[in-house]
Amino acid sequence: MKHELLVATKNKKKLEEIKEILKDLNLVITSLTDFSKPPRIIENGMTFRENALKKAVKIARLSKKLTLGEDSGLCVRALGGKPGVYSSRFSGRDKNDLKNNLKLLKMLAGLPEVKRKAYYVCAVALADKEGVVAVVEGRCSGHIGFALKGHFGFGYDPLFVIPKYRKTFAQLGPRIKHKMSHRYRALEKAKKIIQKYIEHYRST
Ligand code: IMP
Repeated sequence: MKHELLVATKNKKKLEEIKEILKDLNLVITSLTDFSKPPRIIENGMTFRENALKKAVKIARLSKKLTLGEDSGLCVRALGGKPGVYSSRFSGRDKNDLKNNLKLLKMLAGLPEVKRKAYYVCAVALADKEGVVAVVEGRCSGHIGFALKGHFGFGYDPLFVIPKYRKTFAQLGPRIKHKMSHRYRALEKAKKIIQKYIEHYRST
């Protein structure tokens, strides 16, 4: 029998990445897009972990299913870690990926490559009807480029340069991104926990 994992997100791009990275677990992966009226989750935590936990615990309590909450974002060293937990709404109320990227370019204007260091963070929380199962985190380092390049991925990927390749995640595409991203690193840790969780429930 296949086990179900409910991913507490409505973000289709994120869900696609999560499904791809977890595909060898052979789970039925559902998400908030499968709800007729998805519950609203207010992301007001001060950390990625807090937000990931909030998503997982709330949805697990409602659904009574093993639930994965994910919160992620970009931290730029020259900006003291901004946009951080505000990554998706960096450009304000009428936010979108392009506006966020252009705002970031503007804030870093004039800074040389060595001063454009940044890292992505991804926190993944697992919860079930009893409460928190685990929280893990993954990071990926790079720097912010001088112009948007590439068309793969989402969010800040057209600006996030991987030093080893001197290309952005949006140029490198999913095959490389999913082997080194913050999301991949967090989910690799989460995978081991999910596997143990399932084995435990199979044997009881
Ligand atoms: P969340 O839905 O609050 O977790 O929003 C995360 C935001 O962080 C996204 O909207 C993007 O702006 C940014 N972000 C997180 N992960 C990635 C990624 O893998 N690529 C590009 N941007 C990302």
